[in-house]
Amino acid sequence: MCGIVAYIGKKEAYPILMKGLERLEYRGYDSAGVALMQSDTITLYKKRGKVSELEDYCEQRDTSGHAGIAHTRWATHGEPNEQNAHPHLSEDHRIALIHNGIIENYLSLKKELLNRGYKFLSETDTEVLVHLINEMQQKNNVSLEEAVLLALANVEGTYALAILSVDNPDQLILAKKGSPLLIGVGDDDFFVGSDGAPIVEYTNKVVYLDDGDVAVVSPDKGLRIRNIRDEHALLKKPNYQLLEMTLEQIEKGGFETYMLKEIYEQPKSIRDSMRGRINLQKDIVSLGGLIEYEHKMVNAKRFIIAACGTSWHAGLVAEYLIESLVRIPVEVEYASEFRYRNPIIYSDDVLIAISQSGETADTLAAVDLAKRHGATVIGICNVVGSTLARETMAGSYTHAGPEIGVASTKAFTAQVTVLTLMALSLAQKKGSISKSKYHQLVNDLESIPEKIERIFTQEEHIQKIAQFVATRPNAIFLGRGINYPVALEGALKLKEISYIHAEGYPAAEMKHGPIALIDDHMPIIAIATEQLTYDKVVSNIQEVIARKGTVISIVTEGDTTVKGMSKFCIEIPVTEELLTPLVAAVPLQLLAYHVALIRGCDVDKPRNLAKSVSVE
Ligand code: GLU
Repeated sequence: MCGIVAYIGKKEAYPILMKGLERLEYRGYDSAGVALMQSDTITLYKKRGKVSELEDYCEQRDTSGHAGIAHTRWATHGEPNEQNAHPHLSEDHRIALIHNGIIENYLSLKKELLNRGYKFLSETDTEVLVHLINEMQQKNNVSLEEAVLLALANVEGTYALAILSVDNPDQLILAKKGSPLLIGVGDDDFFVGSDGAPIVEYTNKVVYLDDGDVAVVSPDKGLRIRNIRDEHALLKKPNYQLLEMTLEQIEKGGFETYMLKEIYEQPKSIRDSMRGRINLQKDIVSLGGLIEYEHKMVNAKRFIIAACGTSWHAGLVAEYLIESLVRIPVEVEYASEFRYRNPIIYSDDVLIAISQSGETADTLAAVDLAKRHGATVIGICNVVGSTLARETMAGSYTHAGPEIGVASTKAFTAQVTVLTLMALSLAQKKGSISKSKYHQLVNDLESIPEKIERIFTQEEHIQKIAQFVATRPNAIFLGRGINYPVALEGALKLKEISYIHAEGYPAAEMKHGPIALIDDHMPIIAIATEQLTYDKVVSNIQEVIARKGTVISIVTEGDTTVKGMSKFCIEIPVTEELLTPLVAAVPLQLLAYHVALIRGCDVDKPRNLAKSVSVE
């Protein structure tokens, strides 16, 4: 949420900042703004809407300058309009600031600042920061860096900040707590981003800021970092790392949209998530990042999975996998509810936190809570070096590559792949799985990428089905067992990118209420693949047909029963029941995608949404 870009050095800042904003736009697109250091003034341009609108606006304007900060917003406080767009300026126009996060005590800070005569131009929580820093500097007659440290000592909440000041035109000040921020180190310049996308083109030498860090970057004086939690505020040695991202990964590569590219990347992202983790000759599955904690995991009394959105659905799939293969109870929690419920957490619990970005605020809070209760905390995430990766005791990366489409696709299947590997590895260690079952599952897992490729050959057929669904205001997705979370995920994809109201249900729940919604206008998308409950799902579909619902089914190749009952049918290759979510999710992604296209929606940037939900 909210993308931050900054640059200081010898190059023209504006093109670097704009390209960076475009690459971070998945994080929010309510408004965009840029502040440039021009001689001894800060020039500010802001526009409501997408980055392209800011670019159009700036076309005829002076965009020179070698230092600047830029922001693409996902509004938390205050309407998405120009006034509330970042950067925000101090009253004397000497300081400009951009922010990702939420200042939780902004109301009390604002009241105090208003009492002391400060005037506010926006409704944001962010604006208090710029006035507070300005006040600290003037009152204490200190450097901007000191003023930032003093101001942040009064601030509660989360932030990634980049600050530009007329008094120190040769430096940028950055700060991080709870929202991501990294610095790219060039030969004689610095690039700053909420993630590596604005940086990768220029350098692969990066420093990920830690919570509490306040950094000053200056082409002449280099990089200095201090941490507000250190009472002596001593200088920290920067931890230089290699940025694990390529330019190719973050470009569309000939696809119309990022979402379609990412759907088509799934055979590769699943292979990448399995690479080096399966040894077919020795029949061993092993996740390097978990080895140290495997003993604890195998002996856990309970797993708690904490996640949000699509990652929560991957967690539900994992509940079936772990309970069935490892025979340890699993609870799957919405991280946002878990953190405030005063949950019971034992020291022999294992909490698995799942987040694509590794920056999901609620999931990170659940991690913190579990750690405080002495539980073992494991992370599953896609972004190397993210806060989740650093805050958990051990974990596994999903290796899906950067996911830019706001609606998650390849991250979901990569998460399910890693969770499947985890369940298999633990089951083997625990001895809770027979050799033949283990062998069968590992072999079938290896063949999933090829099965997904076969689904892509049905895209035109799925487009036809999409023509039908696109005309309906509602849709119901049904699944049972391990495919119930797939039904939830299918419904989520449809609603988030096409704005059709959709609900997912376990098929047998229909008769307890939702069946009242069925009439001849209602499409029912039913996952009816070969599984233990196949006959039950068939009965559930009959109940729908009896009420004139239109059935679109996902079936196993060769099925005739459900196919005969359906208006449209998508066949997926024969797959082990426990692995079907990896395959069944894909036609549902394509269906949602084509419905959204037909309805003229911006699939990569659905309204009101943003990726990487780093605010509560
Ligand atoms: N709270 C700030 C605003 O609303 C930043 C939002 C964000 O980081 O998502 O402008």
